[in-house]
Amino acid sequence: MAIYHPNEQPAPSYDSHTHLNDDELYFDVPAYLARAHEFQVVEMNVVGYNAVGNQRALAIAEENDGVYAILGYQPEDTPDFDEAALATLTEQLDQDKVVAVGETGLDYHFDTDKDVQMKAFLAQIGLAKEKDLPVVIHNREAFDDVYRVLKEQQVKKAIIHSFSGTKEQAKAFADLGYYLSFSGVVTFKKAEEVREAAKVIPLDQILVETDAPYLAPSPNRGKRNEPGWTKFVIDDLAKTLSMSADDLATRTKQNAERAFLNHD
Ligand SMILES: [Zn+2]
Repeated sequence: MAIYHPNEQPAPSYDSHTHLNDDELYFDVPAYLARAHEFQVVEMNVVGYNAVGNQRALAIAEENDGVYAILGYQPEDTPDFDEAALATLTEQLDQDKVVAVGETGLDYHFDTDKDVQMKAFLAQIGLAKEKDLPVVIHNREAFDDVYRVLKEQQVKKAIIHSFSGTKEQAKAFADLGYYLSFSGVVTFKKAEEVREAAKVIPLDQILVETDAPYLAPSPNRGKRNEPGWTKFVIDDLAKTLSMSADDLATRTKQNAERAFLNHD
């Protein structure tokens, strides 16, 4: 059964960060894509994080129109990012539907060795430069180091995934020309600080994402998230930015196409 009457369909949107490659979603990809289309989420990036995640992201992107792959090693999985993994990733990044390196960055919430994380982060930044691809950044409790590294390495094109920091941090990233991607966190009651941050960023640097199966937006908080629910992130963020949901869907889709697909 269709979710929307054809006359009431929301404007098409782009989920900039989702994990259809995660075990929770991977075995039902066609069903999740069909539901995403009912919500008018017509483009999305499936984001890798380790060897299996990257392989799956690539396969899903190759099989489906409007689905792109982002490949990398998330901080938690950097202990596995050895020479062989680097060689494989280097080769995979040349595939047609790969649009960025990531997710990579620093996560000081978990006890993964900081030096190991840093080494892998720097190596992936190097790869992104070599391949002329943007970098998708995972930052958790590590703003100072993430910001310093990106600045020192003169990274030109970066996307801060699931931005959940302060107004000042948002501004600092935006001043470097980076995109900030907002997830279901903006819909959470206590996330007033994140909503305030969204207001200080130029509209053409804002993206939306689900980070499915994680971070389900209200009214579905706590459930297994899916790409279609980008719709709920857009609805809430649009209210915060005092604009219509259709406008925000259109603008963030254009931004994502510019960031990842080089559409001007
Ligand atoms: Zn993610």
